[in-house]
Amino acid sequence: MTTKLETKVIIIGAGPAGAGTSVYLTQAGIQHIIIDKAVFPRDKVCGDACSGKTAFVMRKANPQWLEEVFNQADKFTPSHGIIFVAPNGKSLNIPYNPNRKPDEQAPGFTTPRMVFDNFLFEKLPSQYNTIYQGADIKEIKRNSNNTITVVFVKDNETVEVTAPMIIGADGDKGITRKTLLTEHSSAKAYAVGLRAYYTGITGLNKENFIELHFLPEMLPGYLWIFPMPNGIANVGVGILSDVIRKKKINLREQMLHAIKTNPDISPRFANATLVDKIQGWGLPMGMEQLPVSGDNFMLTGDAASLVDPFSGEGIGNALYSGMLAAYATEKALKEGKYNRSFLKTEYDDVLYKRLGDELKISSTLQRLCRFPWLFNFVVNKANKSKSLSDTISCMFTDMDLRDKLRKPSFYLNILFNR
Ligand SMILES: Cc1cc2nc3c(=O)[nH]c(=O)nc-3n(C[C@H](O)[C@H](O)[C@H](O)COP(=O)(O)OP(=O)(O)OC[C@H]3O[C@@H](n4cnc5c(N)ncnc54)[C@H](O)[C@@H]3O)c2cc1C
Repeated sequence: MTTKLETKVIIIGAGPAGAGTSVYLTQAGIQHIIIDKAVFPRDKVCGDACSGKTAFVMRKANPQWLEEVFNQADKFTPSHGIIFVAPNGKSLNIPYNPNRKPDEQAPGFTTPRMVFDNFLFEKLPSQYNTIYQGADIKEIKRNSNNTITVVFVKDNETVEVTAPMIIGADGDKGITRKTLLTEHSSAKAYAVGLRAYYTGITGLNKENFIELHFLPEMLPGYLWIFPMPNGIANVGVGILSDVIRKKKINLREQMLHAIKTNPDISPRFANATLVDKIQGWGLPMGMEQLPVSGDNFMLTGDAASLVDPFSGEGIGNALYSGMLAAYATEKALKEGKYNRSFLKTEYDDVLYKRLGDELKISSTLQRLCRFPWLFNFVVNKANKSKSLSDTISCMFTDMDLRDKLRKPSFYLNILFNR
């Protein structure tokens, strides 16, 4: 027997992108159905670092949520800054907010995705939605009446849901993009990452600064060490796929080799223990402004390739794109328009207006990272100049400042101490 349902919006995927969409659809009072193949709580391979953008979308949805986050030290670790380690081993500590007052909320935090995604997932149920977990999608088909039907099986029951709008929030290897974005098949800019959880690493920053080690053999990628709750650290590497292919890198061996032999890193792992198996996953990066919608659908988060090409951050952009997709959906439903050209204006154009510059700057920074001498030079100079390290600090929140990094004049000014 098949159950047939109708709704206004179908969201495929309940990670940060799907949760972001659902929360804002609920705020607008729009009926929707969420379908996820996993059963929550579920894991996702990740560095587990949530930035200011994640905090921004959460605060906008409900300021109380961040209070909850920062009141659960066993689940969430507030982070106040970032440590860049240049290819020459010199490090630069950059607080996110150099003028922070002692009781000010941290701009970012770390938390296992098993915890974070479930935290958001538990916020979703409302009078406006129905959630299907552990659902196996069999088909996504277009109908002649300007709607789409998703067929899935849950607990041996077949369900067919029909709606005028679908949001693809199903991550890197999702089904929505593959099925619906047929006109654009260009190869995506891609990186691959590994994640490992360790206990017993020494020398972690007292204010839980996250560490990015730009080791020469991994450029333009890096090895990270992120302090997490309960004495655990998330350790991983992320490298561009074409570099992995060209240099025939075995990512796992590369990471373990650095942990064992790098003179700055290995002593800190002398008594460390790996507490879970090492796992890998892809990072679809926002290097190009690809189409992220079409007739009756929009893509969000990793399904829309929105991972920051420099930092590897994707949770914030997933939540943010989910929020924008919900706003665009509200307009589409009001006007009864679900075609590609309407959604391009209301979603693609708005999304790239808000995130496009940031992604472009990060793409350039990632390319600059291929030059270790440039990286060494900036870190050496910033260690000697408080005003330069303050400028770099402000670049985390000020996009105009960050854009300076793309310009040769920035480096000339540093060279001549202007
Ligand atoms: C190694 C690594 C380290 C990273 N580190 C960071 C970091 O520190 N900070 C950061 O911000 N970002 C990081 N990222 C990126 C971040 O993990 C992603 O950008 C983020 O998870 C994207 O969220 P999403 O909701 O788009 O997709 P996902 O989190 O992947 O969620 C997709 C959801 O869709 C569901 N789904 C998939 N296929 C189907 C289907 N066919 N039917 C139904 N449901 C389906 C899945 O079960 C899942 O729940 C990292 C990524 C990797 C690989």
